[in-house]
Amino acid sequence: MNDPVLSLSGISKSYNAGKPNEIQVLRDVDLSIAPGEVVALVAPSGAGKSTLLHIAGLLDTPDAGLVHIAGEDMTGRSDRRRTQVRRSDVGFIYQFHHLLPEFSALENIVLPQLANGTPQGQAESRAMALLDKVGIAPRASHRPAALSGGEQQRVAFCRALANAPGLLLADEPTGNLDPATSDQVFDTLMGLVRDTGLSALIATHNLELAARMDRQIRLEQGCLVPV
Ligand code: ADP
Repeated sequence: MNDPVLSLSGISKSYNAGKPNEIQVLRDVDLSIAPGEVVALVAPSGAGKSTLLHIAGLLDTPDAGLVHIAGEDMTGRSDRRRTQVRRSDVGFIYQFHHLLPEFSALENIVLPQLANGTPQGQAESRAMALLDKVGIAPRASHRPAALSGGEQQRVAFCRALANAPGLLLADEPTGNLDPATSDQVFDTLMGLVRDTGLSALIATHNLELAARMDRQIRLEQGCLVPV
């Protein structure tokens, strides 16, 4: 059997440890995501969704527990190796697009590929193909400020997929959009994910969107429970 794309075991995380304002955000969390599986992470604001996604995406480290990405135990790995894995195996999407304002849509998708060693021409072709897939190829030369909120998020999706990762982590990816745009942009995201066979962990508090994923899990008092 194939390794899970993401496996978390016994993950715990506190902030302000040992101080009166200590808060235990995650308690002994186990989670495994199979190849091609799309999982909804549902919880209200403040429950720890971002903390969990950041740990899964190697942007933060747990106090205890193991993170495996594509079968590789990331515990104790060097910063260099963690950066490499994050760059090539993990795509991240935030609620706000976080595109680089001084670069065009195309350049925002090309840059992570150059950082990953892809030649310029190949990176540009892939960026154009991704923009075409999400229906905004004619906007390739526009800077983020000249794009609508929905278009900015579509560019952010392309950027997350630029290096063809196996795992997509998304933190309220349509939470900043009006309901009609949110539905369309979510359709685009699911289309991309299903087309590429990606595994994804998508945080949302929108239960209708969550119901369209393969499985839903909820964070309650720092523990993961099935919905
Ligand atoms: P969510 O994404 O579900 O809104 P977060 O993971 O951002 O939740 O935060 C979970 C809890 O941890 C919140 O109470 C938040 O205030 C707290 N928290 C998050 N980051 C820090 C930090 N760096 N220092 C202290 N507390 C934090």
